[in-house]
Amino acid sequence: MRCPACSHTISRVLESRSAEGGQSVRRRRECLHCSQRFTTYERIEFVPTRVIKRDGERESFDSSKLLRGIVRACEKTNVTPQQQKAIVSNIEAEIQQRSQREITSDELGEYVLEHLRSLSEVAYVRFASVYGKFQSIRDFVETLAELKSESEARGDRDYRALQGAGAWSSAAICSAQSSIQPSHQPSGLPSVLPP
Ligand SMILES: [Zn+2]
Repeated sequence: MRCPACSHTISRVLESRSAEGGQSVRRRRECLHCSQRFTTYERIEFVPTRVIKRDGERESFDSSKLLRGIVRACEKTNVTPQQQKAIVSNIEAEIQQRSQREITSDELGEYVLEHLRSLSEVAYVRFASVYGKFQSIRDFVETLAELKSESEARGDRDYRALQGAGAWSSAAICSAQSSIQPSHQPSGLPSVLPP
């Protein structure tokens, strides 16, 4: 840092203290050439995070929007608000590690799903549905089957909650129905779908 008085580049630090609520470090310095005293601040560089959408357009990463989607998927499940916020923080930390600070919307969705999968099958299926993971009823049924076998392997009972109609978001059901192709429609629909 050049001295503001004489432009000499070497100074000594007289005092360092935390400033701006811990967001920066304030340093009082003294020029070794002319003894001028001046103050510098050190901050973490903020690089905005961007999401690359499927159409290639970029938008800024909106953590509150992501959290809203997660909160909606987790309604009436045992996923706590702390766990929901932790998913968003983990994702933010993950993106901050990247040199480009960019993530595709597909990666973002998969990342959330990876976390929800072990927390709640209900939240997983809802989020997957709203986020457009299911291309057809076949994808949907296959996912349910996978979750069921994972759940049985773990010996927990969350899968049963999937069959309670109250646990379903209408968005999940509408999205699954709208992608039904007549040729793919199985003769017997799973019991979790409305009649
Ligand atoms: Zn100086």
